[in-house]
Amino acid sequence: MKCPFLRDVNVKYCEVSAYRKMILSASTDTGTERCSSHNYAQCPAAVPRLQGLPRTERCPFLHLSQAEFCAAASVTKYVPATNDLLSRCNSDGHLYCELFLTRADPTGARRPRTVGTHVPAVGDRMPSVEGIPVPPQLSYTPNHMWLDVAEDGFCHVGIDGFAAKVIGSAEKVTFATSRAVGRPVAMLTVNGVDLQMVFPNPLHLSAANLYLRTAPSKMTSDPYGAGWLFEGFEPTGAGATVGSAAREGLISGEHALAWMHAESERLTQFVHEQVAAPSPAGEQFMADGGGAVIDGVAAHLDRQGLINLMTAFFAPQLTWRRSW
Ligand code: SF4
Repeated sequence: MKCPFLRDVNVKYCEVSAYRKMILSASTDTGTERCSSHNYAQCPAAVPRLQGLPRTERCPFLHLSQAEFCAAASVTKYVPATNDLLSRCNSDGHLYCELFLTRADPTGARRPRTVGTHVPAVGDRMPSVEGIPVPPQLSYTPNHMWLDVAEDGFCHVGIDGFAAKVIGSAEKVTFATSRAVGRPVAMLTVNGVDLQMVFPNPLHLSAANLYLRTAPSKMTSDPYGAGWLFEGFEPTGAGATVGSAAREGLISGEHALAWMHAESERLTQFVHEQVAAPSPAGEQFMADGGGAVIDGVAAHLDRQGLINLMTAFFAPQLTWRRSW
């Protein structure tokens, strides 16, 4: 599905001009301007090239073409039209475009979108667990990353709402993966400790969200939208059906909510254990005993506690075990 802000237009431009500027070609063109009339014969750019060419109604160097532009951008820029289904604007990839998100969903309260045959009704609420959104169209890794596979096979990967809540804010995001087939790896620096987030299945990466290098807070403030980490697609011939290889071993559908409940309880248990074991400085980082996931719990832990937390919840080797 292409972006609703992507517009097609007819444009014209001069082929021999040093600077190629596309101009809207309107049906109301009168044909009286120089390029579209016999007056092209006086154009200094055309004159040296006209020798031997027959006289025509309009300049032979005036090129008519199709272009597209983004209606959400503050400056209109025409680019040659492309049907490249792997371009963000021509695919479901637009759902992760910062401009699209700002214009289409300014409050960030995205409702679940179409999943298979399920078309959500207006007003449908996002499923959540303890205040953590669990979008139903996504698949989740046991180490708290999500995967979105569009019908055309375009994939996006990020950290899930649980990880975003627990981390609270990261100081730095770096990407250890190049544009090749491999397991996407992002390095997050949280409270001075490096956390490696590894997506377990190989993807053919086309981009990393480099914007997060300057604005790492987006990753946790909008983890399912502008805070995505990687964009790519399944390696050719990877699975029998679109997404089957990328989703291998991931948690989705009704299991995702039950798993998130179990993870929330596991975190509560972890927090209680940390309360019972004060830090070497004698501090107890919290004692509210609540059952909900605590926002930014990572910021309250000492270095060892933080490493324990990362190992328990975000280690790449975690596998999904049904425990309910
Ligand atoms: S740049 Fe973004 S908002 Fe604009 S057309 Fe492309 S996907 Fe849509």
